[in-house]
Amino acid sequence: MTGKIDVDRAKCCYCGGCVGVCPVNALELRDTILFVDEEKCVKCGTCVKFCPVDALRLI
Ligand code: SF4
Ligand code: SF4
Repeated sequence: MTGKIDVDRAKCCYCGGCVGVCPVNALELRDTILFVDEEKCVKCGTCVKFCPVDALRLI
């Protein structure tokens, strides 16, 4: 698997929903910043499809 999840911090409204749908717990919301653990992420795209404001992209 290649690529990485890019977070558009200007769009993200910190709903935390993506954290809950990630199958490998690669996402963590700390206050208003979403972090992606690139070691854990398997690039499944679930968070990208879930995000209600299109703040996530697989690049
Ligand atoms: S692409 Fe999949 S594994 Fe990676 S952070 Fe999103 S939901 Fe988790
Ligand atoms: S689902 Fe989208 S808006 Fe919600 S925390 Fe994740 S990236 Fe931010």
